[in-house]
Amino acid sequence: MFDIIEQAHLGELHFKSDPANGLKAIIAIHNTKLGPALGGCRCLEYATDEDAIHDVIRLARGMSYKSALAKVPQGGGKAVILKPKEPFNRRTLYNAFGRFVNELGGRYITAIDSGTTLEDLDEVGRVTPYVSGNLSDGLDPSPNTALGVLAGMKAAALQRYGSARLKGLTVAIQGIGNVGFHLASLLYEEGAKLLVADLDEKKVNQARNAFHAEPLAPDQFCSAHCHILAPCGLGGVINEHSIQELNCDIIAGSANNQLAAPELGQRLHDLGILYAPDYVINAGGLIQVSLGMSMGMGMGTAKHHASQQTIANKTWGISETLYDIFSRSCVENLPPSTVADLMAEEILYETHGGA
Ligand code: NAD
Repeated sequence: MFDIIEQAHLGELHFKSDPANGLKAIIAIHNTKLGPALGGCRCLEYATDEDAIHDVIRLARGMSYKSALAKVPQGGGKAVILKPKEPFNRRTLYNAFGRFVNELGGRYITAIDSGTTLEDLDEVGRVTPYVSGNLSDGLDPSPNTALGVLAGMKAAALQRYGSARLKGLTVAIQGIGNVGFHLASLLYEEGAKLLVADLDEKKVNQARNAFHAEPLAPDQFCSAHCHILAPCGLGGVINEHSIQELNCDIIAGSANNQLAAPELGQRLHDLGILYAPDYVINAGGLIQVSLGMSMGMGMGTAKHHASQQTIANKTWGISETLYDIFSRSCVENLPPSTVADLMAEEILYETHGGA
């Protein structure tokens, strides 16, 4: 176990078993150099406890990297609730989880992730102040995630075409969900031409009616002839098979873990396709929940929430960060995904050139 922890540079790993309330949960705090760890709570069925441990460590590490490059005063952390196999009472479960979070005294702040709803986070908020992005605080991260993706697309367009204007460019969006729909709206306002794919036909029709978007069959997404491919559905979209079908100049979307394997970053670079690293371009939601929080954060710091304008300004900063990544990628002839990791590590571990 300590080998795994050391390899991941993990700070803390906390386990909670509360059989009376059906709770089995793990909280990983990866790094708190920049501030209290912030990261969502997953509630999923795991085949084994080891799977849950690996998932929470990997995700917590990812949050440290994401916070570092989003330049928010936050460390990286994540929680998983091992979803009970039997029927369970959500309120009781999330109350018990909230007490677990509270016991850590603010070193970890929880938020939304797969399997957890905004209503669940309201339950957590009844027993701990260390939660951000629930129904009560109104910090829905999705619109701001979409704004960050728009900012990132502009950086990519500037790098690739010498102009940040998106007007007249064709953008294919996969997934017209919480983020994808907002993104489509922003791109429509910019004058981009939209192609949209979703498993849910209703969502495609909504986008067609609202933004004159052209429907795309879900299995045609990766081969769509477009300037920008925007994966905003599931992860793993760029894989051994789909990379051979690509017909775009830029990949820039909100989905987490877009590359099925890290080495695909190099392959995209070799193909001359500009990839905006997912955890950099999709950090708008993190910026929203980090800067939007208004609680005393423990660790001796009291915070006041930022205005929506401040949050939007910070989110536009994603454009600058990505432009720096793309420039360094050119100078050092490294894929942007590798450059992003290097830049995050320089901040977190003060390796060469670190902040
Ligand atoms: P969502 O569930 O609201 O939307 C996802 C959409 O993708 C759904 O409409 C679904 O039908 C569609 N979809 C799934 N598989 C598809 C496929 N194979 N082909 C076409 N459509 C498909 O999710 P969301 O909140 O909009 O998040 C989208 C992605 O962005 C996820 O990967 C999420 O992890 C990531 N992300 C979201 C946020 C946020 O603020 N919501 C922040 C960071 C990252």
